[in-house]
Amino acid sequence: MSSHELRHTFRHALRHVLILGGTTEARLLATELAAWSAALRVTTSLAGRVEQPALPDGGVRVGGFGGADGLAAWLRAERVSAVVDATHPFAAGISANAAQAAAGTGVPLLVLRRPGWQQVAGDRWHLVASVSQAAALLPELDSAESGSRVFLTTGRKDLAPFTGPDRLPALDRLRFLIRSVDPPEPPLPPGVDVVLDRGPFTLDGERALLRHHRIGVLVTKDSGGAATAPKLTAARELSLPVVVVQRPPAPAGVPVAADVAAALAWLARLARPQLT
Ligand code: NAP
Repeated sequence: MSSHELRHTFRHALRHVLILGGTTEARLLATELAAWSAALRVTTSLAGRVEQPALPDGGVRVGGFGGADGLAAWLRAERVSAVVDATHPFAAGISANAAQAAAGTGVPLLVLRRPGWQQVAGDRWHLVASVSQAAALLPELDSAESGSRVFLTTGRKDLAPFTGPDRLPALDRLRFLIRSVDPPEPPLPPGVDVVLDRGPFTLDGERALLRHHRIGVLVTKDSGGAATAPKLTAARELSLPVVVVQRPPAPAGVPVAADVAAALAWLARLARPQLT
């Protein structure tokens, strides 16, 4: 083997994969990689937002890195050979940091991001660019009034525009049902109920929940994926309006895989020189 080939092998050998996690896909990828080779170290990084997260196979670290520079330092110190950013499509901060750290260190980076949901016949979607815009739209939707509730499924960290002290006064007359994994931070204004639950959710369950709580409007981020999609079907069946917060753009210039199989294929291509 020539010295050039040796350098190539060294540069691309897959010893340690860092998965930026917090999603079902991140967990599935860690499971698949754990079965690849005992010589491959796999670390999943979690932000630490969920109190009892579902833990993936392989190594786990919890908490922020300290910005892009902190992440770059971690990649160097832990001799990471590839990063898969499998964070939630709305976790734009860590994705930007990953792109910057990868560019600075030369460590290959892939974004694993499930496709967004597609509107189909019968849907009554209102597309907005942010949760604040979603909150501003609600008073204009007749279905949000007349005793029914607005069903908020945007996650407990995004509740401020709907329930925070600075919310629009027009929202005071609406009633809300919040669904989140961990309890939202108090205080919550009157007229707000909470149901604690974690996906995947079933269509029967979502139908029952929308009816039981007399939901008039659903608010969701365009998270994509099957685990939380049944609420959209249930809303369509009941002809409910759905306010859909669109995704922030993925970091420019970074390859994107739509599913775990495509991410594994990308990693296999990086590992190939090591196997020959
Ligand atoms: P974010 O705004 O993009 O990130 C804020 C900061 O949190 C980052 O700068 C980083 O801190 C830390 N961080 C985020 N993800 C991390 C990870 N996987 N490992 C280590 N540090 C991480 O993130 P977010 O929207 O709050 O989401 C946090 C986590 O929850 C993500 O892992 C995401 O996959 C998951 N999640 C988010 C949503 C959502 O709707 N946003 C929904 C479901 C799950 P440092 O700068 O200190 O490194």
